[in-house]
Amino acid sequence: MSTGNTDKDPIDDVLEEVLREGKFKHISDQRLVGLRNDTLDEIEFALVNSHLELCLICEYRVQFFKETEEALEAYEVTESDREVIKRVLGRINERTLDWLKAKDAKGKVEEP
Ligand SMILES: [Zn+2]
Repeated sequence: MSTGNTDKDPIDDVLEEVLREGKFKHISDQRLVGLRNDTLDEIEFALVNSHLELCLICEYRVQFFKETEEALEAYEVTESDREVIKRVLGRINERTLDWLKAKDAKGKVEEP
């Protein structure tokens, strides 16, 4: 009587175990990027897909990632964006100058 396991490639067992355990782990950010860039190997791809069948959170993450990227790609910098950036940078410069002046003044006081 055959046990049915003698002809089985040990790699299949390992793979099966990896898939069984891996499908309960959330998809890493790195794999999300890999999924988008189509750079996952076959095992990673299988893991990601089997997890996505179980997990609404990761399904949402994949969807959100895709939508955010599409929105960013379609986004055009407006004149109002430029004004905001200029204003913020201006404020940073003022603060930096104040800080440098204060530091400079302090340095002079402390010099012997
Ligand atoms: Zn998940």
